[in-house]
Amino acid sequence: MGSAAPVTPVIEARDLTKVYDGAGAETHALRGVSLAIAPGEFTAIMGPSGSGKSTLMHILGCLDIPTTGTYALAGQDVSALDDYELAEVRRTTVGFVFQAFNLLPRSTVLRNVLMPMLYTRVARDERDERAAAALRAVGLEEKLWTHRSNELSGGQMQRVAIARSLVNDPSLVLADEPTGNLDTATGDSVMELFGSLNAEGRTIVLITHEPDIAARTHRIVRLQDGFIVEDAAIADAHVRQYGAGAIPVADDALHPAAAPDGDV
Ligand code: ADP
Repeated sequence: MGSAAPVTPVIEARDLTKVYDGAGAETHALRGVSLAIAPGEFTAIMGPSGSGKSTLMHILGCLDIPTTGTYALAGQDVSALDDYELAEVRRTTVGFVFQAFNLLPRSTVLRNVLMPMLYTRVARDERDERAAAALRAVGLEEKLWTHRSNELSGGQMQRVAIARSLVNDPSLVLADEPTGNLDTATGDSVMELFGSLNAEGRTIVLITHEPDIAARTHRIVRLQDGFIVEDAAIADAHVRQYGAGAIPVADDALHPAAAPDGDV
């Protein structure tokens, strides 16, 4: 990085492995994954079913810890924290967005967005202000804020979930197949929202099966059999517009998957 002031990566994972003990057999879900993501990046994680995407996402989101390897999230080594400590880091540092939205269906929009702040010391007035700011940031009309979340369309629900992910001002927004339950047009508008949040400086990592969705991020990390097999910046706006099929994958566009320090 030369002599510029060092930037603390949001994600700095080194040699992560994850082994699941099954009945009589071990599964090596991650086999040595190193990944560095700088603040403000917009990254897609892709890969076939069983390649380790969910396992990696669970570790990156502090829902689980690696078997070996280290993981620093926003400068804090979280690779060996206990469940209680992981929960605290999740609450303060990560915003989650899920395919199935995971809203409380009978609670109002506002209540859903307030939820991550209920067990924090944030004062009530400030909670309300932050929830309102998040709902404005995702473009949800104010008249919907008092509706129950199960009265909304899928696209509106995902906007609420994105607002909820932002209220604690996380260092990282992690989205797991966020457009998977949406039709194409609605998925597009959710991706536009992610794009504008990223343009404002949010660091976003999303998992997707869909090349067209991945192509709207700025970097694609591809997993296969527990390894990163491709890590490519999408520099070309044309490619972003026309889809991942058009992404050049010349060797020099790839970061070496085995680089011990990743690429900040
Ligand atoms: P993906 O999200 O890409 O489909 P996963 O991370 O879910 O991949 O799975 C990677 C491998 O780990 C698969 O072989 C899967 O069966 C296995 N696996 C995932 N979670 C568990 C678990 N809790 N126990 C045992 N094996 C698991």
